Amino acid sequence: MNKDILELDGAIGGGQVLRSALSLSMISGQPFRIRNIRARRSRPGLLRQHLTAVLATAEISSAQVEGAQMGSQTLSFAPGTLRGGDYRFAIGSAGSCTLVLQTLLPSLLAADAPSSVHISGGTHNPLAPPADFLQLAWLPLLRQMGAAVEMQLLRHGFAPAGGGEIALQVTPSRLRPLHLHAPGEILAQRASVLLAGIPGHVGERELARVANRLKWPAADLQFVWLDPEHGPGNALLLEVACARLTEVFCAFGASGVRAEQVADQAIDRLRTWQQSGTAVAEHLADQLLLPMALAGGGSLSTPQLSDHLQSNIEVLRSFLPLAIDVRARASGGVEIRLEAQSPTTVTSSSDSNIATGETTVSSSGTWLP
Ligand code: ATP
Repeated sequence: MNKDILELDGAIGGGQVLRSALSLSMISGQPFRIRNIRARRSRPGLLRQHLTAVLATAEISSAQVEGAQMGSQTLSFAPGTLRGGDYRFAIGSAGSCTLVLQTLLPSLLAADAPSSVHISGGTHNPLAPPADFLQLAWLPLLRQMGAAVEMQLLRHGFAPAGGGEIALQVTPSRLRPLHLHAPGEILAQRASVLLAGIPGHVGERELARVANRLKWPAADLQFVWLDPEHGPGNALLLEVACARLTEVFCAFGASGVRAEQVADQAIDRLRTWQQSGTAVAEHLADQLLLPMALAGGGSLSTPQLSDHLQSNIEVLRSFLPLAIDVRARASGGVEIRLEAQSPTTVTSSSDSNIATGETTVSSSGTWLP
């Protein structure tokens, strides 16, 4: 492995620390070693989803890897050349396909040729972006940044059964900075209840709670009946389409949790976002930072500085010469601004990979307590 290997401490966060490092390493060409992977989680080390992300990135970037085993808490990764092409990755459990997709997309945008990727596993997992979130909220913003990318949800897969599949088509493209200060006026809203092998009264109660608390009319509430074989699974998705972006709030049914409580989880998150007056909610915020960094700049406002945001900022600072400014807004929430300290643009690798310059970190950030 390379002498200039970057050392990372995975204990600053969870799987996202590893996934962001993989994306940034592939694009910058910077090898890294990470210790204490997911050290503070109840089952530390690489789980299937993380291992699939490692193996997939290794395949796409012809990387040399050490420590790619289930449960491993240390991994060394030295990327080679990025190659677009046709890929298939199977997580082999209900591990999240969407998190693997997010790891791969930045480098496929910077590859030498178009790509088509199939990923099988979970598409609707608690604690991960559901496939609808990527389709409705995250990918449209990446397209605004210039990414030529399409995604299809081929089959739903809920935890713990899995069995879902998504497909992705990527044409190499250059990312442009994106600035999100407000969501813009609300154009439409919709509550969708997904039911796979779960009785209809569960969905009725979830939608009744939405109607009651958010006062959304019946025309904005819908059932999505899925093949019972794709379940069991139940999710409530609240979609708010605004002039600048769409936000999606999701909660999952679970045994022992009342349908009203499930609805309340999604409703409370939506309200936190709306009451904050910020552009994007917690999840979209941490998932936009890396594309903004690769674009050479960007900014957003969000209700709070989440753990995911903090650890992702640390990883970005380790790889890229970025100024990242985090400050409290007088009107509530936080404003995050990223700016490249030297030319930092993602281009097709036939041009060049990212121009990272030196990996010195310049921070003008005002960290909140
Ligand atoms: P770990 O088990 O170590 O926490 P992980 O690999 O499952 O690791 P995280 O590091 O916690 O994942 O990252 C989860 C990602 O999923 C984050 O980007 C988070 O914002 C996103 N996420 C979680 N729940 C949702 C949701 N309901 N909607 C959209 N995104 C979500």
